[in-house]
Amino acid sequence: MTPGIGERAQTAQEGLFELWGEVVDLGSAMAVLQWDQETQMPTKGQESRGKQLATLAGIHHAKMTDPALADALDAAAEEAGDDPDAAAQVREARRSVDRASKVPAALAKALAEAESNGLASWQEARAASDFSLFRDSLVELVALQKERAGHLAGDGSPYDALLDIHEPGTTEAQLAPVFAQLKEGLGALLDRVRGSGSAPSEAPVQGDFPEQSQLAFSREIVDAMGYDIDAGRIDLATHPFCTGFSNRDVRITWRFQKDDLRPALFGLMHEAGHALYEQGLADADQRTPLGTAVGLGMHESQSRLWENLVGRSREFWEWALPVFHRHFPDKAGVGVDDIWPALHLARPGFIRVEADEATYDLHVLLRFEVERKLFSGGVEVDELPDLWDATSEELLGVRPPDPAKGVLQDIHWAMGAYGYFPTYTLGNLVASQLWEAAAGELDLSAQVAAGEFAPLREWLRDKVHRHGSRFSTSELVERATGKPLSPGPFLARVTSVTEAAYGVA
Ligand code: ZN
Repeated sequence: MTPGIGERAQTAQEGLFELWGEVVDLGSAMAVLQWDQETQMPTKGQESRGKQLATLAGIHHAKMTDPALADALDAAAEEAGDDPDAAAQVREARRSVDRASKVPAALAKALAEAESNGLASWQEARAASDFSLFRDSLVELVALQKERAGHLAGDGSPYDALLDIHEPGTTEAQLAPVFAQLKEGLGALLDRVRGSGSAPSEAPVQGDFPEQSQLAFSREIVDAMGYDIDAGRIDLATHPFCTGFSNRDVRITWRFQKDDLRPALFGLMHEAGHALYEQGLADADQRTPLGTAVGLGMHESQSRLWENLVGRSREFWEWALPVFHRHFPDKAGVGVDDIWPALHLARPGFIRVEADEATYDLHVLLRFEVERKLFSGGVEVDELPDLWDATSEELLGVRPPDPAKGVLQDIHWAMGAYGYFPTYTLGNLVASQLWEAAAGELDLSAQVAAGEFAPLREWLRDKVHRHGSRFSTSELVERATGKPLSPGPFLARVTSVTEAAYGVA
């Protein structure tokens, strides 16, 4: 049959891509509105923004569950045969379609509106350090998430269903022994450090750092990393994040602390690491099912690698010291041997985003414990503040003085991200393992000390970024490093740098 006027002869895959492109565009449009909400929108715009996002979520859900898309998928599956790339396109599209079709449209809309409102009440509650201001929103959010998890999980575990959204294939049973190993290794490290009776001075990275100088300094660093500012932008936000609407529009945000260099510098290196992943996705995969990052664990490995493995290394500071002195002339007397120990503290605190490498994963474990009790242990929202404080005391030895420094500190639950936190720890583990493999193939120490970041960036692009969602995180790790994912390289590295900084090696 000859195609009629207005019809185009096309392959089944092109038919799938046409419909999929619309789904991607709607998702990107929602992401633009969310970016705006966190960087530009006046506070009074909140209610109308919630409606706009809910409407788009409804249309997105309708497109995703449209029988025409299901037909296009079946046709593309048949056409794919044993072509691995075409089959991977179908696999990834089907994963999202299956997930969407298990969640009723009314629930998807209710979630979007509850999340947008939850964000507003969380901001208010955190500013006032008053859990009661967030309580009703959180009750609604958790109830809706339980309903969603029930639809997704079927007979399986609701918490596993939530974990799977953020890093496909991850389960509570898989994570528990990894966290147990980290709890033991990091706990022993903290004991040794405590026993040393002294701590590195933070003075080299504290003082008076004007906002504009901090931005200029950090900008110079992320430029050197290869963040393409012509395909991105940098704005202030209370909670730093990275969001991409295509590989040519990847935006990052930052925040600063006037008396401490670390939040701005490491925050921006972190977000730029995420952005390099998004900017490194293949042009040919854009608006296709494979054109997105594989999962949040792998995403976080990219940010952690630049923030911690590069940014906290002695070699990095050998290169960055003159740049630092140029932007902060007051610090002319500070050398690499002064700065480096200040970047490897091991000091349990209340706030996850301010945590050092030696305690960070204990903060994640705290959230993992609280969430699994919330979703599969019968714990109610009203019990969360006390449960949080008690778990913090058990794992970190500190009890938050108020809810803002405890249960209210993270944005995640307010924006509907449950089962998300463990991806941070996966990211730390993957980063160390990738770094070990890259160091075996590249002259990393010399390159970083010379400010030559292109070889590392291209290695990551080749091993991770360009593949999009072709391979799972564990497949990518095995392909890049020749070994299955393990906490070993991370624990070994954190132990050795922390012991060196405290002189207890
Ligand atoms: Zn991150």
